[in-house]
Amino acid sequence: DRRTAQEALERLIVDVPDWPEPGVTFKDITPVLADHHAFSAIITALAAAGKDDHGNVVVDKVVGMEARGFILAAPVALALGVGFVPIRKAGKLPRETHAVTYTLEYGEATLEVHRDGIAPGERVLMIDDVLATGGTVVATRQLIEACGGTATSCSVLLELGFLEPRAVTGDLPIASLLTV
Ligand code: AMP
Repeated sequence: DRRTAQEALERLIVDVPDWPEPGVTFKDITPVLADHHAFSAIITALAAAGKDDHGNVVVDKVVGMEARGFILAAPVALALGVGFVPIRKAGKLPRETHAVTYTLEYGEATLEVHRDGIAPGERVLMIDDVLATGGTVVATRQLIEACGGTATSCSVLLELGFLEPRAVTGDLPIASLLTV
């Protein structure tokens, strides 16, 4: 359940100071993935964002953001019984895409989705490991909407609350298993 997942995250996420650059504390989730019970618990907890209070699945697709989002979103999609769609960095997807370029702390980044990855009217759950400034979630939502879909919710393992991501994510419902 959710409490088991939170406990696992508190115990297993490793803080790496000054990586990849001075002043940034990188949250390394790989020890969570390496522990079968923890991995299983976090997937179940993330998938809850795709269900209503009665346990009915209320999304049609799950998207994961490259690269750690892939590891989490694919098993969440299987757990919900819906398809998985990758959100990739520029130039990786081989067919027609929608692209969104957004500003990072230093420089900019472009994310893409295959145009036929999400059908018009589909309800989409976004999954990533860490919610930091919120820029990645906002860009991903724009990609979903460019396909004609609706970004109904977002679920992440860890929210860096001190970066105030919800100031930019607006009305999007976000479920964070843990907030620091
Ligand atoms: P943002 O767009 O600022 O919300 O950043 C979110 C993306 O960057 C996610 O895909 C995270 O995997 C990654 N990220 C940002 N900050 C961190 C951090 N301190 N530790 C680990 N991953 C991070």
